[in-house]
Amino acid sequence: MENKPSDPVQGIQGLVYREDLIFEQSAAGRVGYSLPEAEVPEVPVDTAIPAHLLRDEIVGFPEVAELDVLRHFTRLSQWNYAIDLGTFPLGSCTMKYNPRVNEEVARIPGFSRIHPYEPEELVQGALQLMYELERYLAEISGMDRVTLQPAAGAHGELTGLLMIRAYHASQGNPRRKVILPDSAHGTNPASSALCGYQVVELKSSKEGVVDPQAVAEVMDEDVAALMTTNPNTLGIFEKHIQTVSDIVHRKGGLVYCDGANLNALVGIARPGDMGFDVIQFNLHKTFSTPHGGGGPGAGPVGVKAPLIPFLPVPAVERDGDRYRLDYNRPQSIGRVRAFYGNFGMLVRAYTYIRTLGPDGLRRMAETAVLNANYLLHRIKGYYEVPYPERPMHECVVSDKHQLEHGVKALDIAKRLIDYGYHPPTIYFPLIVKGALMIEPTESEGKERLDRLAEVLIQIAQEAEKEPETVLRAPTKTVVSRLNETKAAREPNYRWKAR
Ligand SMILES: *Cc1c(COP(=O)(O)O)cnc(C)c1O
Repeated sequence: MENKPSDPVQGIQGLVYREDLIFEQSAAGRVGYSLPEAEVPEVPVDTAIPAHLLRDEIVGFPEVAELDVLRHFTRLSQWNYAIDLGTFPLGSCTMKYNPRVNEEVARIPGFSRIHPYEPEELVQGALQLMYELERYLAEISGMDRVTLQPAAGAHGELTGLLMIRAYHASQGNPRRKVILPDSAHGTNPASSALCGYQVVELKSSKEGVVDPQAVAEVMDEDVAALMTTNPNTLGIFEKHIQTVSDIVHRKGGLVYCDGANLNALVGIARPGDMGFDVIQFNLHKTFSTPHGGGGPGAGPVGVKAPLIPFLPVPAVERDGDRYRLDYNRPQSIGRVRAFYGNFGMLVRAYTYIRTLGPDGLRRMAETAVLNANYLLHRIKGYYEVPYPERPMHECVVSDKHQLEHGVKALDIAKRLIDYGYHPPTIYFPLIVKGALMIEPTESEGKERLDRLAEVLIQIAQEAEKEPETVLRAPTKTVVSRLNETKAAREPNYRWKAR
């Protein structure tokens, strides 16, 4: 049975518990603590705390025991999915394994316990780490200097564009437009608009890349920058990038690299050598820091020499063997983040770079590219491949064949959940109708890739022979299909588990 997944149901249900809202588990008078009787006299709470600071009523505040609370949140956590549980092939997002050594190092008290206002002479090690990380990122990307401050990729884009704006303003004209290919990530137009730029959209070529001719047609002296991802959001390398950069530079424009896909290039090619003037690093994608889940992230930005004066303050400088923070940078765009950025993330990325070393980093990128190509090779007979060009670290297929049986990309994604896989990114990039964008990353071994391929093939066969099965999915989760529009427009957090 060649196409039968060797382990069709990776997720099981037996020990995944139903869970009611904690409010519904409340029993009057139940408490989560047990303390010995106080040895000091009790006083009424309103004599100890000013009345205006006291809440007079918390409606239905849950009264539960400690174990109830523990089980409640542990059970809810079991409904979640993570890279630590299984394959997470979310294209563009690069959900790679976060090595535990990163966490060990980030928790060393000398890093985790320092206060941002500690004097420089007491935090020389932290400053050295930032100084060196900056150099590593500059070396990897081919840039001249880097700021570590921005808190995410999108924040890095904004920071980069603010520097581009400041640069052009210093030349006498901030310019008004930014050119973006139609395959761009949504944050690119958003960052451009936040910076006050008007977006000029560029149609991608039939091969799915930026066409130099199309750039030449829209490029003029009112364009501040062309912004593009390389490899782009189709996973395809922008093979004309040098020609495109030349066209933009000749009219005085700058070229911005959305570095979200840098994990395909590390140790192999450098954006700084392709004509890019600015790049953001998504540390959580390329350098294995955890994806935030709303927590702290980091999106450093590298620049070529002409933009150095505009970098955010403070910059970390070295005098002999001492490190210091430099605030005296008159042309700086200022701070973009409190203190020095999210330092804990910088420690993790630094650890990743140091533990892998140059050869390991290159092997990371090569393996990511190999894995995506292997997976595509295995499934391409079953899913439409919209662009024939060989992809790099991620591949895009579409639901075109399955649509003939009424099965959409969304249904395929939901069915993958039944087989124990997190779905890939769907409906992005926007230029591919019914896109499924798969990025296995370098974290997965061959057996795992084979299993994912077999499951994807199985779903393609189900779509043909028994489409209802796919349309009903997921059936093995705690919650099945939601009305996603209604859920977004009228969120009801009091929904009850079935
Ligand atoms: C992830 C991503 C971004 C945004 O980065 P965040 O760190 O999520 O803010 C921008 N562009 C592309 C192509 C991306 O994949």
